[in-house]
Amino acid sequence: MYAGHIGIALGAKGLRSSIPLWVLVVATQLPDWTDASLCLAGVRPSVPGMFSHSLPAVAGLMALTSLLYFAAYRDRASAALVSIIVLTHVFGDYVTGYKPTWPGGPVIGLGIYDYPAIDFAVEALVIATGWMLYRSSIADSRRLSLPVNLLPAALVGFQLAAAIAFTISPGLRKC
Ligand SMILES: [Zn+2]
Repeated sequence: MYAGHIGIALGAKGLRSSIPLWVLVVATQLPDWTDASLCLAGVRPSVPGMFSHSLPAVAGLMALTSLLYFAAYRDRASAALVSIIVLTHVFGDYVTGYKPTWPGGPVIGLGIYDYPAIDFAVEALVIATGWMLYRSSIADSRRLSLPVNLLPAALVGFQLAAAIAFTISPGLRKC
């Protein structure tokens, strides 16, 4: 999942506006950034994603984010929501691709990346839902502002670019 993760961050902002949006964006991207950092550092587990997307890895990332959030903001409920947003990342990825469960466990997923049109529709739906949640939570004056209303178009555009890139080059992956 690509832009859909950002849609989930927007939706969470709509549900709990006290959490800074950048925190939610970091939370929703954290498994991918962990994966990319490990990859750049030359750490390549025999099962891709084992150290960033498996359930034990995500449990570690969830604990880390909720502890950091609580230390910074002293808000237990928001800290819990931030860690749940980290968890939504792997569930999104289970829908779009194939990810490891635990060491020695099965690699599972629906793999809709193999069907770029379906992947695009699913991610656009997630973006639209998250954006509507976000939009309903902000003041009327800002609801009509251009950045707020261009956001879903930008995210869907980004996802469309990814869909086209994967269609042209199915082997293309992040690292
Ligand atoms: Zn991922």
